[in-house]
Amino acid sequence: MLFPLFAIGEKMKGYMIFTGTELLLGKTLNTNSQFLTSIFAEIGIDLHKIVTVGDNAKRIIEVLNEVPSDVDVVFLNGGLGPTEDDLTKEALLEFLNLDAVYHQPTLDKILKRVGKKGLSGDLKVAEIPEGSIAFYNDAGVAPGSVVAKNGKHYFLTPGPPEELSSLMKNKIVPYLKENMIGTEKIYSRTLKFAGIGESKAEEKIRDLIKASNPSVAPTIKEGEIHFRVTAKGEDCKKLEVMVDEVSDKIIERLEDYYFGVDDESLESLVAEKLVRKGLKIAIAESCTGGLLSNTFTNIPGSSEFFDRAYITYSNMAKIEELNVNKSTLEQYGAVSENTAIEMAEGVFAKTNVDLAISITGIAGPSGGTIDKPVGLVYIAFKYNKQISVVTRIFSGNRLEIKNKVVKFILFEILRKLKED
Ligand code: AMP
Ligand code: MG
Repeated sequence: MLFPLFAIGEKMKGYMIFTGTELLLGKTLNTNSQFLTSIFAEIGIDLHKIVTVGDNAKRIIEVLNEVPSDVDVVFLNGGLGPTEDDLTKEALLEFLNLDAVYHQPTLDKILKRVGKKGLSGDLKVAEIPEGSIAFYNDAGVAPGSVVAKNGKHYFLTPGPPEELSSLMKNKIVPYLKENMIGTEKIYSRTLKFAGIGESKAEEKIRDLIKASNPSVAPTIKEGEIHFRVTAKGEDCKKLEVMVDEVSDKIIERLEDYYFGVDDESLESLVAEKLVRKGLKIAIAESCTGGLLSNTFTNIPGSSEFFDRAYITYSNMAKIEELNVNKSTLEQYGAVSENTAIEMAEGVFAKTNVDLAISITGIAGPSGGTIDKPVGLVYIAFKYNKQISVVTRIFSGNRLEIKNKVVKFILFEILRKLKED
């Protein structure tokens, strides 16, 4: 047996196999892939390949046969359930020529739940390959396991994302970290920016993006741009310093657009600021149809700062709910600076908030003109008794435009709150 896992001085090589016919039919999005690959990157396993295969033992064995000899870790995910199409473990056992044994704590759990009758299908869930180390599943039934053979470590993990997540966080990642002695470490941090386009942001840090250690990798996500700074090496302390230095440079050059790191979200930062300053907000949404309101109310504790939202989609709603002048709508149109201002004034007059926000625009795909193209949005803020309007043209399809408007507004609020 090969336990514990290590490959001194060399980086561990990984191979990932997802099983499930639903993944091949477009019925289930393989979210486990993103989750697991980011963990591999984080702990420093060099992933060579990802293969997705249906619930078919013969094909799973075919894939296992294709794994190159220099791979150290073969990570299988899915197909550990009680039904007949859950065949991953059976395929691995056949491939490795191993028998199954019961994992006693899992067996006890099943017996306690279903009793001793009519459970032949259920019992196989409690089986693990002989000689393996098992990881008890707190969030479900099927345990994870790792078995070593042929110079490789084979992991079996359950498909349901919440079970996988709990098992990885609490059991498997600590196990890997503890047992991967002497391998290359990775340290990374994600810096988050908004209110700036991708190419403009990249232009300012081109030299840093070209460097290799630390590396800087951009990703764009609904109106935000993220730069992931990653350093590789042996000494974790040194890696952190390397990441600090590059992060400082990036933040300095893009200072006006920076808002947070890693798990920090724009909405939670805005919420935190509003609560700290004791400010209340109310909004009037037209083209975003409640999305900004939804975003705010997704934050736990939003009642501390969020007063109300008016979804005034039609002209009549704008007139009736917010006292927008009919003549303003006729003269300038619903998508105009004047209408945005009157909407924000209307919200402010009807409520007792510190900050009133209004949104009116054209989310498309139809409704655009030469003067007022799709993506044109007017956003008015009434804050500190002053009104201000921002005009922007956002690109994308209908949903992308709505998302970008929301992100833009959140960032504008942060900016405004920073000023005072
Ligand atoms: P399984 O035990 O692998 O058959 O999967 C049980 C549940 O987890 C099913 O609802 C699957 O759709 C879901 N699932 C399995 N694999 C994945 C995956 N890679 N990403 C997201 N969901 C998955
Ligand atoms: Mg399945």
